[in-house]
Amino acid sequence: MAAPKVAVVGAGVIGLSTALCIAETCPSCSVTVLSDQFSPNTTSDVAAGILIPHTYPGTPIHVQKQWFKETFTYLFAISNSAEASEAGIHLVSGWQIFKNTPKEELPFWSDVVLGFRPMSEAELQKFPQHRFGQAFTTLKCDCPPYLLWLEKRLKATGVQMYTRKVADLWELHSEYNIVVNCTGIGAHQLVGDEKLFPVRGQVLKVHAPWVKNFIRDGDGLTYIYPGIHRVTLGGTREKESWSLSPDPGTTKGIFDRCCSLEPSLRGAQDIKVKVGLRPSRQCVRLQREVLSQGGVKLPVVHNYGHGAGGFSVHRGTAKEAARLVGECIAALQGSSSRAKL
Ligand code: FAD
Repeated sequence: MAAPKVAVVGAGVIGLSTALCIAETCPSCSVTVLSDQFSPNTTSDVAAGILIPHTYPGTPIHVQKQWFKETFTYLFAISNSAEASEAGIHLVSGWQIFKNTPKEELPFWSDVVLGFRPMSEAELQKFPQHRFGQAFTTLKCDCPPYLLWLEKRLKATGVQMYTRKVADLWELHSEYNIVVNCTGIGAHQLVGDEKLFPVRGQVLKVHAPWVKNFIRDGDGLTYIYPGIHRVTLGGTREKESWSLSPDPGTTKGIFDRCCSLEPSLRGAQDIKVKVGLRPSRQCVRLQREVLSQGGVKLPVVHNYGHGAGGFSVHRGTAKEAARLVGECIAALQGSSSRAKL
């Protein structure tokens, strides 16, 4: 069989990192990214990009932990290299705070992040409404720079990228041997996945360079995540809302909630409002499927449905998707050598 032609559909953090993993693990493959939108117009551009996992109820915890660990290790190495500022990856320390002590005082990812420990009484004095907290150091991606860095890496490895809206995965069968579906919330329409639903998130990106520590309320609703250039203030989680229009009342609510945790934010400037739809599911859809029409087959690998935690696990799920692409190639090579006999 000639060099397998692989199309990755989608250019958010999942599509770009999956294309990179495929190009790295299968140098003989010809990899193409097809997407109707690229950075800065994807959901991934809106994200805060902090590495704090979201829990997928339908995926075993040891699998989620493995995805997170692989992602953390990969980004930690970038943060510790000369590439760090261009890639927008940096370490950030801070606090996750709770009004009441949570049932689970040690989350499954506590030994992956750095220096995880309960907050001291002195630290908790900063948050008079909260009774318990966890201090740790994690990583943060500044999302648009990281997506551009991934695109640059892809171009350097010979991956082609084209703007194209795919109406049906089957339309790619005559041009490609394998298709990888990384379309995020777009998979709802593209493959009719009724288990996939949007969870709308509105955030503010502000100029407040004096804020150096992250603060996350344990309910996940209010957060302050400092990046290299901007601080992300959040947020909202509105299930089944497809609206991409910012809501001014929500903007005020987010700003007030964040200021109650970090009063110095009252001096923040240049407030920009962003909205994104988290591609949510009980579990990430990471699986092989074979489409077939009139005896012609098209192997597909799905990698979408990362909900509120796509940045936290992207490298781990990309590696798994690349492994599944390897299985598809082995199956294609097996069937082409059988056909020759
Ligand atoms: P997307 O970024 O939406 O990319 C999908 C791609 O597919 C796009 O390029 C789109 O154009 C393309 N596409 C779709 N349909 C088609 C089609 N038919 N044909 C061609 N192309 C198509 N996660 C974290 O880990 N940490 C955080 O701090 C964090 N904060 C967040 C804050 C907010 C407000 C939001 C909304 C999300 C946040 N997330 C966070 C979650 C994270 O953003 C997502 O899990 C992640 O971006 C999903 O990436 P994706 O590549 O699957 O989707």
